[in-house]
Amino acid sequence: MFNAIRIDKDEAGYRSTLASIDESALPEGDVVVRVSHSTLNYKDGLAITGKSPVVRKFPMVPGIDLVGEVESSSHPDCKAGDRVVLNGWGVGETHWGGLAQKARLKGDWLIPLPERFTPPQAMAIGTAGYTAMLCVLALERHGVKPGDGEIAVTGAAGGVGSVAVAILSKLGYTVVAVTGRPEDADYFKHLGAADILPRSELSSPGKPLGKERWAGAIDVVGSHTLANLCATTRYGGVVAACGLAAGMDFPATVAPFILRGVTLAGIDSVMRPRADRLEAWARLATDLDLDKLGSIGREVSLAEAIPLATELLEGRVRGRIVVDVNR
Ligand code: NDP
Repeated sequence: MFNAIRIDKDEAGYRSTLASIDESALPEGDVVVRVSHSTLNYKDGLAITGKSPVVRKFPMVPGIDLVGEVESSSHPDCKAGDRVVLNGWGVGETHWGGLAQKARLKGDWLIPLPERFTPPQAMAIGTAGYTAMLCVLALERHGVKPGDGEIAVTGAAGGVGSVAVAILSKLGYTVVAVTGRPEDADYFKHLGAADILPRSELSSPGKPLGKERWAGAIDVVGSHTLANLCATTRYGGVVAACGLAAGMDFPATVAPFILRGVTLAGIDSVMRPRADRLEAWARLATDLDLDKLGSIGREVSLAEAIPLATELLEGRVRGRIVVDVNR
């Protein structure tokens, strides 16, 4: 038997509870992992609360990421004792996930835990931090350099945003933290933000083009915020879009793209090829200060993670929640 958060949906309704599950119920896979830590990402919040239909099979164990040790494996690249990390691949949505003491997974989904990180540190990064790194890599690939000007990071107090601010500042970029919590100035300064912009400055309907400000942007918010970021990005700048915290809509015009050559780079972390994952985790190991990571993450138990899912969706959680599944 192992402990897990289990999501059920039946005549009694949609509910997430702490459950003890028989190992024989684990889904198909060629690697069994003894999970040590998982996290609460935005998508886990949606899954646990049922606020959006991210879970497509029931019962489901949520948790889109995990870190742990291989217990048994018939996969050629994994052996018992290996320390591994998993992000995405539909885990926690269509395949039982990481908010559990055990997981059975496809070996192809696993990557080695970078030596620089302890298991809790890897999950303080988690899918949010790995996605932040994918966004930074997209800015770099499109030629945005540290000296080019200000980079906006929206949802800066959240998981993706906090890690993005920390990475960009370490790389020498001038980062503006866009946030609904400007009163947390000390937090943003510690992460390395040069300036703070209240999120209300970008959240209302705007013009097709505004005054050019950003050399680049990382957006987790979507909707008018993303449209306004594109409209105020400088000639040839890049906006990496990965989230929908304010909405799925994109009420924009093509003006920034056809008149200023702005690039909108879409970021998906879930189905990302293995080579990109290895690159992102290797860069996290060199470009993220462990001291800053320490101020971003805090640890909770499996049981504590359930009510925290609601707080996360309400924007009341700062940074990252690491879940010690054995606590
Ligand atoms: P968090 O909940 O940790 O952070 C989201 C942040 O967005 C909040 O902390 C808040 O920051 C801001 N925010 C919340 N609601 C609103 C709103 N209505 N308007 C404007 N800002 C808002 O989530 P994550 O960082 O884990 O994820 C952020 C987004 O990125 C989510 O939409 C998630 O689904 C997406 N995502 C996408 C991935 C991909 O593969 N494309 C992977 C990972 C995440 P503040 O208080 O500073 O304003």
